[in-house]
Amino acid sequence: MRKRDPLRTFLLGTALVALILSAAGGCSLFNDDDDDSKPPPPVPPAVPVALDVKWSVKDNASGAQMLAFKARIEAASAQLWNATSGQMYLRNVQLEDQDQSGKVILDNLTQQDGDLAFAYTYQLTGGGWEIHMGGLYPMQAFIHEVGHAEVLQDWTVAEEYDLPGPTCICAMEAYITGSGDGKVIYCDSGNCTKSQRSGCWQALILQMHSNWTYPRTAGAAPACTVTITDHP
Ligand SMILES: [Zn+2]
Ligand SMILES: [Zn+2]
Repeated sequence: MRKRDPLRTFLLGTALVALILSAAGGCSLFNDDDDDSKPPPPVPPAVPVALDVKWSVKDNASGAQMLAFKARIEAASAQLWNATSGQMYLRNVQLEDQDQSGKVILDNLTQQDGDLAFAYTYQLTGGGWEIHMGGLYPMQAFIHEVGHAEVLQDWTVAEEYDLPGPTCICAMEAYITGSGDGKVIYCDSGNCTKSQRSGCWQALILQMHSNWTYPRTAGAAPACTVTITDHP
């Protein structure tokens, strides 16, 4: 004996209901044929990328310095969230001093610059990346380097300071020395000043993250949990 197929029955039932509805619609007094009034399709929900990244401090940091680094990492996560229109942030961060095993390495405690350059990112052989910054990095340094590593995922053409044209508002420009955090957003086709580019969002970011949308309201950043290992 053949078992009854519940899925088939369900589909048949659905088809029957649809048929009845369409027949009813054809003669309904309330039928509205005006399709122009349909609202636009809703923007799909964001699929944020949550980064779990270890941060290392090369030197021996005091407890107060580690707490300051922790607060700065939380601010960096919120800034990344804002720069990516609510589509990437730091979720869990292990912060350890006297260590160099992290993906983000603070080369010193009290300078804006890292050891070899202001800040830099390089690809590791076999995959992955490593960011170096000074302990007192301006926020643009982080948004720029994490731009290479994760947001734009490009180590070469993403440098806007290599392109001719007026200085862009973009974090992928060079950092302007002085106090302050610099440029902490990625440019788009409407505000990029480099004629060769259609802006970081259109040229690179949306190509790398096919399920992201732009523009989008970022909203409040999710929690960034920083766990400290402070060696004496
Ligand atoms: Zn840009
Ligand atoms: Zn630009």
